[in-house]
Amino acid sequence: MSKRILITGAAGFLGSHLCDRFIKEGYKVIGMDNLITGDMKNIEHLLKMENFEFYHHDITKYVHVAGELDYILHFASPASPIDYLKIPIQTLKVGSVGVLHLLGLAKEKNARILIASTSEIYGDPLVHPQTEDYYGNVNSIGPRGVYDEAKRFQESMTMAYHRFHGLETRIARIFNTYGPRMRLNDGRVIPAFIGQALRGEDLTVFGDGSQTRSFCYVDDQVEGIFRLLLSDYSDPVNIGNPDEITIREFADEIIKLTNTNQKIICVPLPEDDPMQRQPDITRAREILGWEPKVSREDGMKITYDYFKNLTKEELFKSEH
Ligand code: NAD
Ligand code: UDP
Repeated sequence: MSKRILITGAAGFLGSHLCDRFIKEGYKVIGMDNLITGDMKNIEHLLKMENFEFYHHDITKYVHVAGELDYILHFASPASPIDYLKIPIQTLKVGSVGVLHLLGLAKEKNARILIASTSEIYGDPLVHPQTEDYYGNVNSIGPRGVYDEAKRFQESMTMAYHRFHGLETRIARIFNTYGPRMRLNDGRVIPAFIGQALRGEDLTVFGDGSQTRSFCYVDDQVEGIFRLLLSDYSDPVNIGNPDEITIREFADEIIKLTNTNQKIICVPLPEDDPMQRQPDITRAREILGWEPKVSREDGMKITYDYFKNLTKEELFKSEH
């Protein structure tokens, strides 16, 4: 008998790739999404498949799924800084009320649940690289606090269900992940820079560009999540690529990749933008036998090809 899995945030970037992976592995997949930042285009190809069902539902409202469930992947949440600044209350609600609904559902169905946490729970980190036992440095009342604190609450609630109800839980601390199906206008640095290069605009580096990030290609991320779900490990695990780069150097790489002569301009750094970020993945290596395989050079080529194939209308459409 095929295992049955519920994936929230299914029409989003990571959720849609996870749906693909679990369908490929022979699971019956139920995708759930309210499309607040997602797009049906990401899962259009799955809709005709016998093993895929889609529920258009806001998980901050009571969540009901008929029949048995073996697993839940909770990926619903705005994920880009400009999204969660635009919809701060929905972001807090999906990470708090939403996770309660899913933990309750997991308990009712006796299903194992994995929640998508984030490197943002480390805030602007004072420990580098970030290990899972670092408690973080988060400004709870700053503009990014709506996301960071919702995710921290989500982790606490998940551990409470694990300890108190004996629920089988998994926590993935995901570091910046990229690839095809990111939304061109979601404001994250990779779609932002590629979009600017394709439109012939200057690349906007926030601050002086000395802040760092470490970018993980989506296929590596999905493999890490897949292994974590099937593992027996309930403490948080960092999943990301430790290959760190400054944003300024990254802008130069984009100019080379896109073969354009765009200028780089510096604009003010958003409040609480973390200055450095790099996952320590020792735990993922030891527990899951996992490490990223795709270099930034290869992953960015695939990602650039995806964005190059967007229509002119999509490329010039502005959301904000
Ligand atoms: P995304 O915006 O592409 O996907 C999120 C999806 O969740 C969207 O389809 C959106 O419509 C849906 N959603 C939001 N609120 C909902 C609600 N109340 N009910 C139902 N659906 C809802 O973002 P993503 O990059 O795919 O991120 C997915 C998850 O992974 C998020 O939980 C995010 O916090 C986490 N994450 C992502 C990254 C990354 O680099 N991509 C890093 C850390 C954590
Ligand atoms: N960034 C930038 N220019 C942009 C968009 C983002 O310089 O047009 C910077 C941003 O300030 C941050 C880094 O790129 O330091 C990564 O931003 P992103 O929003 O992708 O992810 P996060 O800050 O959540 O890691």
